[in-house]
Amino acid sequence: MAVKILIVEDEAGIARFLELELEHEGYAVDKAADGRTGLDMALAGGYGLILLDVMLPGLNGLEVLRRLRAESAVPVILLTARDAVMDKVSGLDMGANDYITKPFSIEELLARIRAALRAGTAEKRPETLTWGALALDPARHTVTYDGESIRLTYKEFLLLQTLLENRDIVQTRDALLEKVWGYDFAGETNVVDVYIRYLRQKIDDPYGVKLIHTVRGLGYVIQGDGT
Ligand code: CA
Repeated sequence: MAVKILIVEDEAGIARFLELELEHEGYAVDKAADGRTGLDMALAGGYGLILLDVMLPGLNGLEVLRRLRAESAVPVILLTARDAVMDKVSGLDMGANDYITKPFSIEELLARIRAALRAGTAEKRPETLTWGALALDPARHTVTYDGESIRLTYKEFLLLQTLLENRDIVQTRDALLEKVWGYDFAGETNVVDVYIRYLRQKIDDPYGVKLIHTVRGLGYVIQGDGT
């Protein structure tokens, strides 16, 4: 069965061009011309990949991505305007798998699509991680406490996932930076402390638990299973 790709793009000429090229490559293609329609179609499921333009009427592409990531881990490639650095950074931070800058060559886009699809299928569905009443589902990108959903940004989610996967093992700031932000992160290491604070504000404070422990001079750790 052909992999189905959703193109969310308001410029009809570009959307049509992409549709023809992708169909020529053997993909099945659907199109949406605005953000809200695109989000509804993407959430309805069945797509192997979403090509998502950032500059869209109604709901912009980053907002579509943010809402989509609350419920779905489907691979997303952002189509960004030339030099829109902020879009790329916030897009990747919100969970885009890749981005490509307009104008792009169709060969480059096809290569990115193949890579994103390969990465998607290579990943086996990971187990839900729990700590007490807290549950993090890596496949669906959801976090709940006692069934109540907690909204986390993509980096907050990755940070929590990393700590849960390494429970009882102290994670240094450098290790967390590398695992969550990547090798090429050029900012301050105190970004880890800032995000730990965000997680505590969203989980420890409202639910009255002590989830993340600070290990003075070393880093952070989640201990035990929360029972
Ligand atoms: Ca556009």
